[in-house]
Amino acid sequence: MSPTGLLAAPLPGVSHCQFSHQAGLTSLMLDVTGTLSYQVFTLGAPDRVVIDLHGVAAHLPPGAPNFAGTPVRGMRSGPTATGMRLVLDMHQPAHAQARLVHLAGGRQRLVVDLPVGKLALARQGLKQPPKQRPAVIAIDAGHGGKDPGAVGRNKHYEKTVVLGIASLLHQQLGRDPRFHPTMSRTSDFFVPLHQRVLLAHQRRADMLVSIHADAAPSRSARGASVYVLSPHGATSAMARYIAESENSSDAYAGVFDKALSNDDPMVSKVLVDMSMNATIASSLDLGRTVLGHFKQVTNLHQQRVEQAGFAVLKSPDIPSILVEHGFMSNPYDCGRLIDHRHQVELAQALHASIGDYFHKYPVHVA
Ligand SMILES: [Zn+2]
Repeated sequence: MSPTGLLAAPLPGVSHCQFSHQAGLTSLMLDVTGTLSYQVFTLGAPDRVVIDLHGVAAHLPPGAPNFAGTPVRGMRSGPTATGMRLVLDMHQPAHAQARLVHLAGGRQRLVVDLPVGKLALARQGLKQPPKQRPAVIAIDAGHGGKDPGAVGRNKHYEKTVVLGIASLLHQQLGRDPRFHPTMSRTSDFFVPLHQRVLLAHQRRADMLVSIHADAAPSRSARGASVYVLSPHGATSAMARYIAESENSSDAYAGVFDKALSNDDPMVSKVLVDMSMNATIASSLDLGRTVLGHFKQVTNLHQQRVEQAGFAVLKSPDIPSILVEHGFMSNPYDCGRLIDHRHQVELAQALHASIGDYFHKYPVHVA
């Protein structure tokens, strides 16, 4: 920016502003002296068309343009950091399409077509919507084989409870055309934590759900919790305790740091951090959805999503959550966790949460 106004050339301005309404199609024409860059987009609730003009003075020529008989209800303008924003308030949802026309004398005309109703649908129909594909869900039943996980009263093992819930979820998602489920173990065998992460990548998973039940030194601790990865440290002492006990079955937790190391470690770290932050944000969103559905079928140990350094959640690009479905160490929780009907309810709550998440973030054929 110039330090004094005297040195700066005056910004080009909008010299003419007019609506046209022909054959049912309303268009807005904006004439600008000089070159123009712009962005046009629509917003809903209420319906608006927003026109950002960059590098122009933020004022319109005197005299309000006439939009009587058009789908436009009102027009506002104001300055922005780069120029001017025009907002058209619409009577109904509109589709906006803009093009530049070069006029004599170095002037440019921005024409914004505003088809509504059938016209808008016809124009939208020309563009093929992106094709959706089923989301691949990696279902990870914790522990297995030589690693029993948490042990409850009467020798009830976490590894058995979580395989039950995971198998039910696999069954439910398998019947739902929106999903393609895959499991990191389908029976009682040991799978190292890093292997679980690698399997999710090999199977091109769009999400990883790790299924657990926990234990605490205090038998009174009960209820379900949801965890996502924390790159920095645990959000609570309980989170740290749980993460340490879940990670203890595997000595090799640094898998992704190694797998992603590159010739320039700094570049690689920055890229992984950027991807990781976005993935953690998505995982938190999924975690909150799960807590919302779990509230209907069980008690919550934590009302919010906890964060800790779980090795199985360390995929930089796959939203991943670890769900503790209750405490094996609590007699009431343990009784419910081994109950088939309750396992079905928990699997249904996970299924509904995964459905909500992919409704919000559908996956498309690349
Ligand atoms: Zn576990």
